[in-house]
Amino acid sequence: MKPEGAPDTVRVGLFDYQFVWHEGTWSVGNQSYGTCDFTTLTIDLNGNLPRQRLASSFQHEVTHAGLDALGYCSSGEKAELSPEDVCIFNSKFWPMFWRNNPEALKWWLSLLAKEDVDAHKP
Ligand SMILES: [Zn+2]
Repeated sequence: MKPEGAPDTVRVGLFDYQFVWHEGTWSVGNQSYGTCDFTTLTIDLNGNLPRQRLASSFQHEVTHAGLDALGYCSSGEKAELSPEDVCIFNSKFWPMFWRNNPEALKWWLSLLAKEDVDAHKP
């Protein structure tokens, strides 16, 4: 099930990724809650995860898409990134991603907001 406010698509670099929202206890193996397919430009996620788990899984799968889009690695390969590479990726990719997907950012932040005390909840 698609969570309320969740995106149907996001722009990751030059690619438009489509989300496929799953229901119930759908997961991929143990402790895996999503997949990112570089060929079909599809991200599968379980829409019934607890909010913080969903926020983490969303960012995990979009990071896979971002690493592919920016040429850091492709499917099945282990990238060898230095800590500085990780910092450069995060400082370049995430601002670009959120700038290109502001509605996804609002939704993602809402997953992390505390219901009654967080003044930054969108
Ligand atoms: Zn992964």
